[in-house]
Order: sequence, then structure tokens, then C-alpha cells
Amino acid sequence: MTTPSLADGQLSQDPIIAALSKGEELLWLNPKRRPFAEVRDTLPLSLDDIHAAAARLERFAPYLARAFPETAAAGGIIESPLRRANAAATTLSQWLGAPLPTLWIKCDSHLPVSGSIKARGGFHEVLAYAEELAQVHGLLAGVDDYACFDEPDFRALFREHSVVVGSTGNLGLSIGILSARLGFKVTVHMSADARAWKKALLREKGVQVVEHTSDYSVAVAQGREEALATPRCHFVDDEDSTTLFLGYAVAALRLKQQLDAEGVLVDADHPLVVHLPCGVGGGPGGIAFGLKHVFGDTVHCFFAEPTPSPCMLLGMHTGRHNAISVQDIGLDNRTCADGLAVGRASAFVGKVIEPWLDGIYTVSDDHLYALVALIEESEGLGLEPSAVAGLPGFAYLARHSAPERQAYWQSATHLAWATGGAMVPREEMKAYQAKGRALLASQHHADMN
Ligand SMILES: *Cc1c(COP(=O)(O)O)cnc(C)c1O
Repeated sequence: MTTPSLADGQLSQDPIIAALSKGEELLWLNPKRRPFAEVRDTLPLSLDDIHAAAARLERFAPYLARAFPETAAAGGIIESPLRRANAAATTLSQWLGAPLPTLWIKCDSHLPVSGSIKARGGFHEVLAYAEELAQVHGLLAGVDDYACFDEPDFRALFREHSVVVGSTGNLGLSIGILSARLGFKVTVHMSADARAWKKALLREKGVQVVEHTSDYSVAVAQGREEALATPRCHFVDDEDSTTLFLGYAVAALRLKQQLDAEGVLVDADHPLVVHLPCGVGGGPGGIAFGLKHVFGDTVHCFFAEPTPSPCMLLGMHTGRHNAISVQDIGLDNRTCADGLAVGRASAFVGKVIEPWLDGIYTVSDDHLYALVALIEESEGLGLEPSAVAGLPGFAYLARHSAPERQAYWQSATHLAWATGGAMVPREEMKAYQAKGRALLASQHHADMN
């Protein structure tokens, strides 16, 4: 462990930094949160931008239905199921010693084509690049059906261009699968955390995979450098891209329709609390941004991070955003939640969410494994460790918020965003679940503090 390189003596005295650096689980409430109506017009992106992203995904729906037949039944709209999770609510509230919540799960784990939250932002950015190229090269004149993106003249154009991305795994999968299908040359820079099966799958699809022995920030930096040195190349910048962010945000418009269809009322007396696993911040940040535009302050958004990688909590609490890393406070950024293994948060996202995010909590690796087992047992859902981080959120709020707020959180509708799982090979998933069951058998109850 290196000595924390905190310039400022204040930080090393800070109780939250002290708890984080010891790997303790904690709930942090954002002291800068203000009414959304007061901050909405100061933000760099708007509801119109979200609608434009949604419209782009709709234009491409005929292409997606053709290129990925599993999306044809939904008309090429890549969306995930929302499910009421009564069995999980019972199991989790018993395990966590918390009152029974009203719990829903948003199953991005089962998003078609790439099986994770990354399909939302990643696909939107690749499609935006393809559309721009087609436009510039005059291929879109008179076109009203984007299924033509699968035609030989489009593929020939894309073969002359490349897409590069740095990833802990799932973003690489999502960008790699779609870019390769469109005909682009694709290079994915994978951090040390990336699972072997993800690299193998991408190579099978003709994607060039560059393996790094260092963490996510380095993989991204290398990707950025390669892209700058390559002509006709687009770098998908997970730390800074507004196109990715807006693709994620579209989820909010769709969730509103799903909640309406289920008859779930969201208003001042029936608040919605959404729990989002956070890595670099783009996925949860984009979705939460969309939700605030749709539901205003009747929605509360909380992020969940693994205790070894609380980069967003650290960046927001210190106000240093991407100018501080978890390594700076002595953490090693090694976690079973490979999708969240990010040591330095996005500066862009941190600043956008700062005035309205409700808070962030952290979850230990042991608890993530246990949650993987419990969600399989109760709901029959196969979720990867990153995807379960938001499941204990309702209990944190019931336990750690101010006494006068506890009834409010308990009566709310809680929605845990399950961010990945369906692509995980069966054997790998069974190993996660077995590890979780073993941990549960050795502890009779959760020792979350
Ligand atoms: C990437 C990822 C996240 C978080 O998204 P970020 O944009 O990195 O914050 C959450 N869950 C899974 C499974 C992921 O792959």
C-alpha cells in the first residue's frame, strides 16, 4: 500500500475518507443537493438532447431488428424488462434486518445483444458515429429506412474507419459487438479486471483486443492515445462522452412508460427511489439525469459502489472529481464487481450530478457475492456481482438516514437497476453463486453496519 498522496491535511482528518480508506461500507448523503427545478437550466445537457438520442435509436430500430434478429420482436428497440420483486424484497429484508420494501428490479442484465447497461450508451454512440459518416459521405440522401445500414455500400464505408474504446469489459463487449456488425475495424483496450471470456468472445467476432495489466484509467488513456494517432478513427471516451451519457438517459423515458403500464404511481406522496451501480459514472449518471428530467424531485437517485472502488463518492465528497483516485487514499481498486472497478471517476459526470444526486453508498465484495446468491434463490435471476450493488440500498436508507426521514424512505417505491448478467457463461455464474452461498452459510446474518 502506498502512502496516501493527499496534499491537504484536512482530507486525512476527514471521517468519511477514513472510513472509505478502511474499506468500510457507508452511506453518504450529498450535501450539495438542491431542488431540480433550480438547477435544471444550469446543466450542460437538456431534455431536448435526451429526446434527440431517443429519436436516433428509433431511426436505427429497423437496422437493429435486421442485424440482430433477437430484437425484431420488439421492433429493434433494445429495452429491458421491469419486474416486481416481492420474493427478493422478503429475502433481502430478512437478511438485512430491515422493514419489507416495495421493490422493483430493472433487468438491464437481460438487455438484448450485449446483456448489460452498456448496450444503452454504447450502442447510441456507435450508431451516432455511423450516422454521421453515412451523412458526410452522401449515403443518406433520400433514405427513410435505416435498415440500409446493413447494405454493402455502408459496410464498405465503415470498413475504412475504426472505433477504439477502453473498458473493464462490458463497454468493450457492447461497442465491439455492434461496431463489428456494422463493418468497422474495432480495437478494445481491456483493463486487468476484464474477464477472459469477454476477450475471447470479442476476438471471435473479429475485434482486436489489447490486454493491459493495469486498471481501467490506463486502458482508457492508451485507447485515447491510439485513436489520436489513427486516421479515420473514433474514440469512445467513457470518461467524457456526452453521446454515451445521452444514450443511457433514454432509459428514463422508457421506464416512465413501463411504470405507467404497471400502474405504479410516482408523485410527491409516492416517491420513487432508484439505486444504480456506479463505475466511472456515465451509465448511472445518464440514467439518473434522465429520471430527474422525467420525475423531478419525486425521484431520488442513489449510486452504489464497491468498497475497494468508491471513486464517485470520493470525487464528489472531496469536490476533486477526477483529480483524486481511490489509490490516493490507499485503496487497491480490486473488486469482484469488474464492471465497477474504476479508481477515478468521470469529471464530466461528477459535475453534472453534483447539484441533484441524493447520495452514494458502498458495498463490500462479500456482500456482493451474497447478494448474487440471494437474488438467484429468490427471483431466479442470474446477475453478475456489479449488477446487485443497488439491492441493499433500501435497507441502508431505512437504517442510516435521520430518524425523521426513515418513514419516508420505507414507504417509497424502491427500484434496483440490475446492470448485467445474461452474457456471463453458465459456469462462471454458478461459481459466483456458489461463492455467495458459502459466504451466507458462514454468516448467519448480514453484518452491514
Ligand atoms: C459499466 C457497468 C456499470 C456502471 O457504469 P459506469 O458508466 O461505468 O458507471 C454498472 N454495472 C455493470 C454491470 C457495468 O458493466
